[in-house]
Amino acid sequence: MSSSRYVVVPERLIRQEILALNAYHVPPASDMIKLDAMENPYSLPQEIRDEIAQLVADAAINRYPDAGASQLKASIAKVTNLPPGMDILLGNGSDEIIQLLALAVAKPGAVLLSIEPSFVMYKMIAAFVGMKYVGVPLAQDFSLDLTATLEAIEREQPALVFLAYPNNPTGNSFYAAAIKQIIEAAPGLVVVDEAYYAFARDSFIPHLAHYDNLLVMRTFSKLGMAGLRLGFLAGATAWLGQLEKLRLPYNVGVLPQLVAAKLLAHHDVLLAQAESIKQLRSKLLAALSAINGVYAYPSDANFILFRVAHATQVFEGLQQRGVLIKNLNGGHPALLDCLRVTVGTADENQKFIAALQDTIRGLL
Ligand code: PMP
Repeated sequence: MSSSRYVVVPERLIRQEILALNAYHVPPASDMIKLDAMENPYSLPQEIRDEIAQLVADAAINRYPDAGASQLKASIAKVTNLPPGMDILLGNGSDEIIQLLALAVAKPGAVLLSIEPSFVMYKMIAAFVGMKYVGVPLAQDFSLDLTATLEAIEREQPALVFLAYPNNPTGNSFYAAAIKQIIEAAPGLVVVDEAYYAFARDSFIPHLAHYDNLLVMRTFSKLGMAGLRLGFLAGATAWLGQLEKLRLPYNVGVLPQLVAAKLLAHHDVLLAQAESIKQLRSKLLAALSAINGVYAYPSDANFILFRVAHATQVFEGLQQRGVLIKNLNGGHPALLDCLRVTVGTADENQKFIAALQDTIRGLL
């Protein structure tokens, strides 16, 4: 090492906004009832597993994947009823698509706007790419504050707006009419993030042709494919063609492409699982609401946000009893004493409720 230069330490080299970040935390979950990450709790029927096993056995994993993923894109276009003239871009999870969009528009001073509380990666990715992030607070009941949002759009002139529909972690869907007003007012792109579409079943995909600045993003993670890492963006070729330039050529591997296309051929099975999750969601909401001291928010997604005194202690008590959910207390002022539980199987939900009752009793 030359003595004429400073010691190279991360603090001197890494950008300030990255130094200031905390990495996205994923806690260990082995042997726990895992209700923290909005996964589908069901496994697949044996016949479909056998079909997948055969596909994997025959897959050309010595070759790079089909960079255009034509077969998978055709399956997606079919199951989403993609309007004519619209295209699909695939991501290694929709997280990657958020990053790709931000990278594309991150001119100096460009703004990424979202609402708060919402999915934390919007803000994190703005920092990754050096964009200014603006978060417009939701109303107290977690509905969209349309006036404040439109004012912020007018003031900040964001290049990119993300709206999760339904929203994570609050679980509600904003009024579609309010979202349309935002799309009409926005000077840049508006991305409607339909990660939880399977449980809400209302979509902006049919409206793509009406708005030149609208893109719709979805993920297969909540529909039983979280382990495959696959998300997509639907929109006009004019936009997607530009974004394709930034997509790393082989971002979706051979196995995810094959397995996802196979699962989409059995879309009915996945939709039936989502339907069952919706029914269990109603029961879970009722069971949560019946517990003294718990306030549970209605949800259009596959999770429920609830408020309870001493939330962090409750979270830890659940962990000690073998149930992992998500602690949102301390993450955002509007989420004081809030926890989020993913809807699991009937048995998992029952065990969670019993553990919650037991924990709360222990804290009294
Ligand atoms: N959008 C929203 C609103 C989410 O909640 C999530 C995951 N929790 C994602 C996008 C990212 O999903 P994935 O990267 O698994 O596709």
